[in-house]
Amino acid sequence: MQTVSDFFGCHVFSEAVMKQKLPKAVFKDVYAAIHEGKRLDLAAANVVANSMKDWAIELGATHFTHWFQPMTGITAEKHDSFISPTADGGVIMEFSGKELIQGEPDASSFPSGGLRATFEARGYTAWDPTSYAFIKDQTLYIPTAFCAYGGQALDKKTPLLRSMEALERQALRILRLFGAEGVHRVTSTVGPEQEYFLVDREVFRRRPDLQYCGRTLFGARPPKGQEMDDHYYGAIPPRVAAYMKELDCELWKLGVLAKTKHNEAAPAQHELAPIFTSANLAADHNQLTMELMRTLADRHGMACLLHEKPFAGVNGSGKHNNWSLQTDTGVNLFDPGDTPAENAQFLLFLVAVIRSVDEYPELLRISVASAGNDHRLGAAEAPPAIMSIFLGDELTAILDRLEQGKSAHADERRPMEIGVTVLPHFPRDTTDRNRTSPFAFTGNKFEFRSPGASFSVSGPNVVLNTIMAETLSRFADELEAAPDFRPALDALIRRTIREHRRVLFDGNSYSAEWVEEAARRGLPNLRTTPDALAHYETPRHIALFERHGVFTADEIHSRCEIMLENYSKTIRIEALTMLDMVKRGILPASLEYQNRVAELAERKARLSLPNAVETRELIHLGSLTESLVDRLDRLASDVLSADGDIPAQELAVFYRDHVAAGMEALREVVDELETRIPEELWPYPGYGEILYSVR
Ligand code: ADP
Ligand code: MG
Repeated sequence: MQTVSDFFGCHVFSEAVMKQKLPKAVFKDVYAAIHEGKRLDLAAANVVANSMKDWAIELGATHFTHWFQPMTGITAEKHDSFISPTADGGVIMEFSGKELIQGEPDASSFPSGGLRATFEARGYTAWDPTSYAFIKDQTLYIPTAFCAYGGQALDKKTPLLRSMEALERQALRILRLFGAEGVHRVTSTVGPEQEYFLVDREVFRRRPDLQYCGRTLFGARPPKGQEMDDHYYGAIPPRVAAYMKELDCELWKLGVLAKTKHNEAAPAQHELAPIFTSANLAADHNQLTMELMRTLADRHGMACLLHEKPFAGVNGSGKHNNWSLQTDTGVNLFDPGDTPAENAQFLLFLVAVIRSVDEYPELLRISVASAGNDHRLGAAEAPPAIMSIFLGDELTAILDRLEQGKSAHADERRPMEIGVTVLPHFPRDTTDRNRTSPFAFTGNKFEFRSPGASFSVSGPNVVLNTIMAETLSRFADELEAAPDFRPALDALIRRTIREHRRVLFDGNSYSAEWVEEAARRGLPNLRTTPDALAHYETPRHIALFERHGVFTADEIHSRCEIMLENYSKTIRIEALTMLDMVKRGILPASLEYQNRVAELAERKARLSLPNAVETRELIHLGSLTESLVDRLDRLASDVLSADGDIPAQELAVFYRDHVAAGMEALREVVDELETRIPEELWPYPGYGEILYSVR
């Protein structure tokens, strides 16, 4: 039998494969491209391309594709075969360095948020040698960045790579001050925990809202939801187990470090977590994971739901973004460690995160903003839209003491001197028992819990990396200029704690009291996507991104427009789907049932029997149906009027306040009707049937 280590990464043109296949000199060049960011020349690229092609053909590939991540939320690919005609009417298989390095897909059908109007329609894809090529569906996939002809990023990979570089630059400045030796690289690492739902394919097919919108637009609560807490970590049903097994295997072949799988809190909800890797690779791998989750579910007669909130009243799905910084010497910069020097360094990086989150909460909120995630954030099941940090008792106590100028040790009365005090060695697992915080320190990494299940992790990490780069650069400016490093460091740490401690909160972030308390502290609470996006293009944010070379003002503008458009379009599609389902399914069912009851009432009257019950039911159904039609008409006219040439921000606000609100109102009546109309007349499977469809 084959063991996992035999086939792990067998479909990846990994460093090991390259080392084996490439001439030594070329491998050295590729290695420098991967690890030192050096450019590969065309001659070397030709050799790599040829070897990649031979390797791919051996594994059955006939095509290659540049694989990229446009602003659509999914990945894009255009397949070309390797064939090239020969003079004698045959073909040979060819793949050149030029084809490897650069592609020119037509950019005009991808969202550009206005960048296209000002620049050329043409776009190009550029090989990202730091993410390995792989084989899927008999095709060689080449991870690429996607840019407009003028170099403007049109994708999610480019800014992520830029932000990783920015953070590395500043982190290295700090490490140099600490005299860290032999450190040449600092990488942001990410391990995204992916939540998802599995429902039976047949049930899925009978719900147009799940098919078109990825979530249910109505549905009365089932008698049994997650209140029994019996699903979390429960036994995995055989069908799901078979699916998970195949998913793991396919991911392993692609070099994805799938590690943990378990049932989640809601019925039909599950989670998969990989071992962390560099942010860039983690983003690519997470896209692959989501894609495989969908296609494999299909093969197993199920549908995989990656929406943030497929069912009202049932937990939604998030993507916990575990994030840390690691040096090429293997040091995790958020690991408290146990020597004094390391502690001071750890503390500086820690307070840098605190300051970053406190200074740029809007950007973090924006990085998790979407119509889908708005249903989740602040619904007393996911962290609220208020950005705060959980540190845990011990670390908070240490910061308290440091701020007061005392020793980090609670039992000592020495004046603070970070250089010579030793942090108590806190046990890892006491640090994270708070699941309500959007941003929690979990022992040696931060867990950003606000991203939604369908998100690319790129956006959140672009922001994390950039705001951290900014704070570290300010710190480095100050410390580099200081005549004496240690006292300057102590003062900086103490001041940072004092100035930014308002963002620390260890209590229950789901509570109403926190919302009030946060307001008193002056922390923003941007509840919806339009609220959040109104803060994107501020001069301060533009300056931040420009300073670190992550986004230009144009690129931010384009991204903001795309996010607003997505928001409005999503709600529009949902509203149209809902209108259709109500008009053609729910309204007829309600009338049909009334007809039945009316016939019975009439028959009873003819027999001179009392029919008060039927009459009462008819009156009640009649008035519900009247509300149904009223709200239906109202929504229909709002959707109709939600068009025309108004600014994207205004349109999004209209969709939120009128269309989404109108859907809520309509849903209320539909859900009430569902509880009164017999199941055989109700046109759609209910929550109970959907959530317990996979056994
Ligand atoms: P929990 O459910 O308690 O949050 P999991 O084990 O499900 O824990 O997830 C932890 C995630 O954190 C994993 O994906 C893991 O790879 C990731 N992780 C661990 N260490 C780091 C690190 N240094 N940088 C980034 N991610 C990390
Ligand atoms: Mg987690």
